[in-house]
Amino acid sequence: MSDIAKLIRTIPNYPKEGIMFRDITTLLKDPKGFQETINLLVTQYKNHKIDYVAGIEARGFILGAALAYALGIGFIPVRKKGKLPGKTISQNYDLEYGSDTIEIHEDALEKGAKILLIDDLIATGGTALGAIALIEKVGGIVTETAFVVDLPELGGSKKITDKGHKVFSLCSFAGH
Ligand code: AMP
Repeated sequence: MSDIAKLIRTIPNYPKEGIMFRDITTLLKDPKGFQETINLLVTQYKNHKIDYVAGIEARGFILGAALAYALGIGFIPVRKKGKLPGKTISQNYDLEYGSDTIEIHEDALEKGAKILLIDDLIATGGTALGAIALIEKVGGIVTETAFVVDLPELGGSKKITDKGHKVFSLCSFAGH
C-alpha cells in the first residue's frame, strides 16, 4: 500500500450500507501527506500545457486550489447546484449512491482553454463525466483528469479513458 493510501481512512457503510467511504480528511491533516499529495501532482503536470485546474465541490476544491497555486495557474470551481452567483450551465449526473447536479459559470473559461479536472476520488465516473460535459459545453478542453483515489472495480476511470481523456490517480482501492 502506498504512503498516500495508508493515510486515507476507510469508514464502512457511509453514507449508505455497503459503501466503503474513503475519507481523505486524515490525509489532508497530515502535513507530510498533504504536501506529498500536491508534490506528486505537481511533478505529474508541471511540464504540461494546462491553462486552468477545475475542481469539483467540495474535496476537489481543497486539492485543486493547492495544485493550481503550486502550478502558478488559475482555479475554476465546479459547484453543486445554486451556489455560483453568475450565469451558469447545469448538468445532472449519477452517483454511486444517488444523483446530483453540478454547475459552472458559463463564462468560466476562454474557448479552447486546456483544463486539468481534479477530484478526490473516482468511483463510477458519473461526477467526473458530468464535470467534463460542463467544461466542454463552455468551450474548454479537458486534457487531463486527476484523482487521489481510483476505485477501478467501479469502472469510472475506464469510462473516462474510453472517452479519450487521460486519467491519473495516486492510489487505488479494491472493491467499492
Ligand atoms: P462517482 O461519480 O461514482 O465517480 O463518485 C465520485 C464522487 O463521489 C467523488 O466526488 C467522491 O468524493 C464521491 N465518492 C463516491 N464514492 C466514494 C467512496 N467510496 N468514498 C469516498 N467518496 C466517494
